[in-house]
Amino acid sequence: MNILLVGSGGREHALCWKLAQSPQVETIFAAPGNPGIAEHATCVDLTVTDHATVAAFCADNAIGLVVIGPEAPLVDGLADSLRAAGVPVFGPSAKAAQLEGSKGFTKALCDRANIPTARYVRASHAAEARAALADFDLPVVIKADGLAAGKGVIIAETAEEAEDAIGHMFAGAFGDAGAEVVIEEFMTGEEASFFAITDGSAIVAFGSAQDHKRVGEGDTGPNTGGMGAYSPAPVLTAELEAQVMERIIAPTVATLAAEGMPYSGVLFAGLMLTSEGPRLIEYNCRFGDPECQVLMTRLQSDLAELLLATAKGELASCPPPRFSNDYALTVVMAAKGYPGTPEKGGAITLGDTGSAKVLHAGTALTDGALVANGGRVLNVTGTGSNVTEAQTAAYAAVDAIDFPTGFCRRDIGWREVARERG
Ligand code: ATP
Repeated sequence: MNILLVGSGGREHALCWKLAQSPQVETIFAAPGNPGIAEHATCVDLTVTDHATVAAFCADNAIGLVVIGPEAPLVDGLADSLRAAGVPVFGPSAKAAQLEGSKGFTKALCDRANIPTARYVRASHAAEARAALADFDLPVVIKADGLAAGKGVIIAETAEEAEDAIGHMFAGAFGDAGAEVVIEEFMTGEEASFFAITDGSAIVAFGSAQDHKRVGEGDTGPNTGGMGAYSPAPVLTAELEAQVMERIIAPTVATLAAEGMPYSGVLFAGLMLTSEGPRLIEYNCRFGDPECQVLMTRLQSDLAELLLATAKGELASCPPPRFSNDYALTVVMAAKGYPGTPEKGGAITLGDTGSAKVLHAGTALTDGALVANGGRVLNVTGTGSNVTEAQTAAYAAVDAIDFPTGFCRRDIGWREVARERG
């Protein structure tokens, strides 16, 4: 089988590396890919917003499965267009991808399916939003409805900050994403991520992770796409995972199917583990980056077989995914300046990184030499029998990489390492 993989980040390198291990896979094409992905795939220059061109590419290259990594092409309906052309696709339809594309859509679904989440109000103009503030204690959470690359969420500590956030969103700070605003009750607890794969009917658990979104050590500074992650998340015990499946994932899948927009792909639930049990913060309609890197490192079964069965609606007859009991921990190496303007062109020499896995994100080859070409540049993953061991292995490999214009956090996994130390 030939596969087309859409995307160019560390997540897609992890997927590509795993897909390439499948005996079912002949050629992988990646659009656009990156130098790490190019070790396993043929990188092609396709305009993925031009669905007809992508469908023609699939026909010309006997593509048996398309795997869509990022959210934007999913929300844009690429999966719908390719399915209409008869190509099996791993990834939800545009309607189902509203789970990530519209926070208001997800909150309304939680109401209909009785899914535990923060109390909320949706508002479509500023006066309505300001009036709703009276019903919430401080801090209060103000969210732009649409996709805002993780920046459309403000946790307002004062009434003034809340009013300002509402003003900015309706003034167009996030473009169309802020045409509607969701005001939410602030939930307290520890955050964790849970993944499930579904074809719209069958559902399988696909592991847990915790990530570090802030750029600075101790989880400080501006938000990023993610500076590191580890899997599994020990705080999400087997009992809590069972609750998440029963109270959050299963009713989501059942309700979307009953309403004529079955979800097919990976459901990535951002959870708050509150004193009253896990509650949904948000859904993403794709694998997380860097969460995918830790999940793929632990995955022992055939990824291509699983994704193809999901795409074909045959998940119930596919062997369930198997994971190693080891922990995996990924450290993201970013270019200085990230998450602002990253320094591009800095030289990278990988050195002897031992058994750690180095996955590429924003890299390029200039005259055959590896250089930085984006914000998040490399993902270095170590494994071990606990988070501390996985962290030690990851940082040993980080230290073998010469990347003078790069930086990373030195404390990925700190919460769990502290718990392991007792
Ligand atoms: P991303 O895609 O970067 O995860 P997003 O823009 O989709 O973010 P959310 O995940 O909904 O937005 O929120 C971002 C972060 O804000 C969460 O990871 C969480 O830390 C915090 N947050 C969101 N909603 C709440 C809430 N109701 N109570 C407490 N914290 C919250």
